[in-house]
Amino acid sequence: MALKATSKETTVQAKQGEPQPKSQSNPPWTTDELILALDLYLRHRNSLPDKNHPEVQALSQLLGEIGKTLGLNKGGSFRNENGVYMKLSNFRRWDPKYVENGRTGLAKGNKNEKVVWDEFADASPKLAIAVAAIRNAIESPSPEAKALTGADEPEIMEAEEGKILTRLHRYRERALVKAKKKDVLQKQGCLRCEACGFNFAEVYGQTGEGIIDVHHTKPVHSLKPGEKTKLSELALLCSNCHRVIHSKRPWLSVEQVRALIS
Ligand SMILES: [Zn+2]
Ligand SMILES: [Zn+2]
Repeated sequence: MALKATSKETTVQAKQGEPQPKSQSNPPWTTDELILALDLYLRHRNSLPDKNHPEVQALSQLLGEIGKTLGLNKGGSFRNENGVYMKLSNFRRWDPKYVENGRTGLAKGNKNEKVVWDEFADASPKLAIAVAAIRNAIESPSPEAKALTGADEPEIMEAEEGKILTRLHRYRERALVKAKKKDVLQKQGCLRCEACGFNFAEVYGQTGEGIIDVHHTKPVHSLKPGEKTKLSELALLCSNCHRVIHSKRPWLSVEQVRALIS
């Protein structure tokens, strides 16, 4: 049982510049975690497993790892078996099969449950791929896993598949910036935004030379840890177009941004 911290305690614990939860209760479930829980829920929809079920225990452990990676797991009751079981019960209220006979699920829950339900419950291939990709990113011993422990970027809208795969995407696009720019310079002689045609060197002269963003065009859920990114999977974008791509959920494609401009 989580104890509520008084506001005084919270102030003492809060580090400057870091948003802190108001109490010591566990942080809200992230999209990644809800996707994994939804997968378990749907596989046991008719009869939910109790907290001693091996799959509930296994998910609790995996969520503990994800929580460490994301910096959310401060120990204690973080995503323990009981918490996982409760979350499965929370999904019931969004399940048309459960509520059709006048039954209602638990009234309380987090609003993201409905978002995840709507995006994944009826899309089993999409759910399976997202589950495998999140699992892979956490369980693989690839050095990329270290890159996942960074912080969220405020200007980047989290992908539908959650924080882990968003971070993997951003890591992948940064890792090959130099190689991609060099390749395009050799082939085309200049660096131009593939969506709007903007060329920093044309507008800002020498100072703008070499400035351009690199964006990973592969769907986030298809990212596998350790997998080699091909230069052809990367697109050059000016900072405006790149920002527009990541501003909506789901992220836009380069073609969609191009269409917006024309
Ligand atoms: Zn552009
Ligand atoms: Zn990008």
